[in-house]
Amino acid sequence: MGVATVRQWLAAAERVTVLTGAGISTDSGIPDFRGPQGVWTKDPGAERMFTLQAYLHDPALRATAWRNRAAHPAWQARPNAGHAALVDLERTGRLVALVTQNIDGLHQRAGSSPERVIEIHGTLSAAECLDCDRRTPMAEALARVAAGEPDPACAVCGGIQKAATISFGQALRREVLDVALVAAAGCDLFLAVGTSLQVQPAASLCDVAARRGARLVIVNAEPTPYDSMADAVLRDAIGVVLPELVRP
Ligand code: ZN
Repeated sequence: MGVATVRQWLAAAERVTVLTGAGISTDSGIPDFRGPQGVWTKDPGAERMFTLQAYLHDPALRATAWRNRAAHPAWQARPNAGHAALVDLERTGRLVALVTQNIDGLHQRAGSSPERVIEIHGTLSAAECLDCDRRTPMAEALARVAAGEPDPACAVCGGIQKAATISFGQALRREVLDVALVAAAGCDLFLAVGTSLQVQPAASLCDVAARRGARLVIVNAEPTPYDSMADAVLRDAIGVVLPELVRP
């Protein structure tokens, strides 16, 4: 199935749920994790940084993590044509939810409604205390880092803080996952964009949608474990093909 066919399916669909991964943000200068130029492909040790147990027990690793947050490309990044196409899709009134594995906030910055964006892996734009769960703007924590605190503790309880993202060894927020599951189960077309579909439970949203009879369309440069289940797989560049797919 090619772009023209998928475009017809999308035009005819009444309820569309989209899942996005790192691949949609690479055009904005944010590297992915598992692609050929991925963060963990090039430096497998970097994955340790994202393990909750390592983070809790290693102050030097936390200091590095805070410096990395301050220098994260997301702060300078601008949304690209792929993000914009999904804003256009929402404007047709048929987008159930935009589930994203990304923490970069680019969907909202592109103009997607915050209430439609389900950030299953959390967000870089907030810090949270691992003891009392207090959430504060990331900008406040980064201001303390810039002022010389290597590892800013919670201002209320003194607990260790972290970006409000999901680390390895950390469960997804149940209420957020539930909203994503309902959106996957309640669509007639499920569009997975720029995700390797190797991380669960995010990838299993494809199963949920397909079991309920939704068409499954995958747009990703590399093969995924769900390609054989999909009704269509497109390898085209996301920033080119997404605008074509949603063009009225
Ligand atoms: Zn606290």
